Amino acid sequence: MTSKIYQKNATIIDNFRINGGYYKLILATPEIADRIIPGQFVHIRINDKTDPLLRRPFSVHRVIKNKGKFNKGQIEILYGIVGRGTEILSKVSPKKKLDILGPLGNGFKIGSEYSTHILIAGGMGVAPLMFLAERLSKAKAKNPKQKIVVLIGAQTKRKIFCEKEFKKLGCDIRISTDDGSNGFKGRVTSQLTQILPLFKNQASMIYACGPEAMHRALALIARQNNIRAQISLETYMACGFGVCMGCTTNTSGGYKLVCKDGPVFDANDIVWPQN
Ligand SMILES: Cc1cc2nc3c(=O)[nH]c(=O)nc-3n(C[C@H](O)[C@H](O)[C@H](O)COP(=O)(O)OP(=O)(O)OC[C@H]3O[C@@H](n4cnc5c(N)ncnc54)[C@H](O)[C@@H]3O)c2cc1C
Repeated sequence: MTSKIYQKNATIIDNFRINGGYYKLILATPEIADRIIPGQFVHIRINDKTDPLLRRPFSVHRVIKNKGKFNKGQIEILYGIVGRGTEILSKVSPKKKLDILGPLGNGFKIGSEYSTHILIAGGMGVAPLMFLAERLSKAKAKNPKQKIVVLIGAQTKRKIFCEKEFKKLGCDIRISTDDGSNGFKGRVTSQLTQILPLFKNQASMIYACGPEAMHRALALIARQNNIRAQISLETYMACGFGVCMGCTTNTSGGYKLVCKDGPVFDANDIVWPQN
C-alpha cells in the first residue's frame, strides 16, 4: 500500500508524565490524524539540531479527530524513556513544534470475518493496540457478536496501562504481571495459552505488540493452535520510508523492511534468528 506521506510541523498540545515513568505526547496534525490507521507510525525529529541526527519512530496510541474550530485533528503518542532521544522528547514543552513524517508503514489488517479479536500487549506494546481497540469497537457496534479480548502483560502493576480505557470500549481484559502484583502471575503468552481453549471453535485473529521474545513465543502458540496472528515489530530504524535499508527482517518471502513492508507482519512469515 503506498499512500501519501506528510511532513508537518506539528504543534505540541501536551507532553506529560503518566504512571510508571511513561509519557504522553499530543500533537496537532490534522492530515496525519485523518489518514493514519492502527499500527502505522510517525517519525519524529526530536529537535532542530543535528544531534540526535535521526528521527525516532512512534506508533499512534490514539487519534482525536477533527472536533471543530479548536481541534483540527490530533494524535496521541505513548512513550517511554529509552535513551537520549526520548529523554530530550520528554522535556519538550507544549506550544513548541515538532517536525514529523507520517503516516508510515503498513498497519494492522482488520478482518470482519473474525468473531474474536485477541489483542496482546507486552509492556509499552500497548501503545498501538489502544488505537486498534477503538477501531475494532466501532466495528463491534455494527456487529455486537464480535468479541474483543485484551491481554496486557507487564513486569509489575505500575507498568500496566489503559485498563480502564479498554474496559470503556467493551473489551474483555486479562492482566498478567511477571511479579504477580496484578492479575495472572507470569508471562502474557502463558496466560494466552491458558485462555485459548475458550476461543478454540471461533474464528479468531491475534494482534500483538511487545518485545521480540513475546512475539517469538506468540508466533509458536498461534501456529500450534492454528490461529492467525499479526505482530508489530519495533526494530531500530533510520529513514522510516524504505530508502536506507537499515531495518531489514528475515521473512519466508525473503528480507523485508520493517519501516515500509511492516511494521505489522503476519507472525507466520517471520524467520526468527537462531540463538
Ligand atoms: C514502528 C515503531 C513504533 C514504535 N512505537 C513506539 C511507541 O509507541 N512508544 C515507545 O515508547 N516506543 C516506540 N518505539 C520505540 C522507539 O522508537 C525507541 O524507544 C526510540 O527510538 C528510542 O530512542 P532514544 O533516542 O531514546 O534511544 P537511543 O539512544 O536511540 O537508544 C537507546 C538504546 O535502545 C536501543 N533501541 C532504541 N530503539 C530500539 C528499537 N526500536 N528496538 C530495539 N532497540 C532499540 C538502542 O540500540 C540503544 O541501545 C517504536 C519503534 C518502532 C520501530
